[in-house]
Amino acid sequence: MNQSDTYVVGNWKMNLGPKAGHDLLQELKAHASNSTSTAVWVAPPATSISSAVQATAGTAVAVGAQNVHWESQGAFTGELSAPMLAESGCSFAIVGHSERRHIFGETDQLITKRALGALANSAISIIFCIGETLEQRESGQTTELLRTQLEQLFQELSPADYSRTIIAYEPVWAIGTGRVAGLTEIQQAHADIISFWGEKVTSTGCPPILYGGSVNPDNFTEIISIPEVAGALVGGASLSVEKFGELIAIAAEASK
Ligand code: PEP
Repeated sequence: MNQSDTYVVGNWKMNLGPKAGHDLLQELKAHASNSTSTAVWVAPPATSISSAVQATAGTAVAVGAQNVHWESQGAFTGELSAPMLAESGCSFAIVGHSERRHIFGETDQLITKRALGALANSAISIIFCIGETLEQRESGQTTELLRTQLEQLFQELSPADYSRTIIAYEPVWAIGTGRVAGLTEIQQAHADIISFWGEKVTSTGCPPILYGGSVNPDNFTEIISIPEVAGALVGGASLSVEKFGELIAIAAEASK
């Protein structure tokens, strides 16, 4: 992982089985090979990881998982460990996605445990997702909420983890709703995160911060022009080769 890259990360969620995922990636290869400073990552559902790794072999597209457990093995039904992901060809895992937080009740503490456990495996990078609900934003709690979600992680990351950590700011109200956050809101949240990092870590600058929430080819040019935005975590638009390919082209243009 090169921290100065511009990232376009697709989160397929519970979509695209092994064959559909393979087919999409075969088509996507043409788009993904265009830029060396644009990192293209995809997170298929667990059963499609192996076919995604096969489809992207020999390309720069990285494959990752949508979640990861902190232990390397044991009695944790339904979970996947970082060594298992690494052995399957994954190089990253998403942790703390808003759907994990709000549908499955994962807490800040649990998510931080997942992140730190995964980073113990040097082959795995993490995308640590944070973001406020609409109610939290409207009641003026966004900054404090983001701080709370990051506090323990920033406190406990070791220097060896810094270069394998990415933050994704994803306002819950903008995910899958078609309602994208305003440029000022995005800029402010990213600047807050950079400032929290600076309070905890002085030896190096803040890791890349991606924006996520209804990113599509019509809004990405403006979003990626915000200096604090290092790329996008993309749900819906990552399921379309055309749209995801356009996002990659926009990122490549922006990183020139
Ligand atoms: C996501 O799943 O992280 C996401 C941002 O979804 P969407 O792009 O569909 O809003």
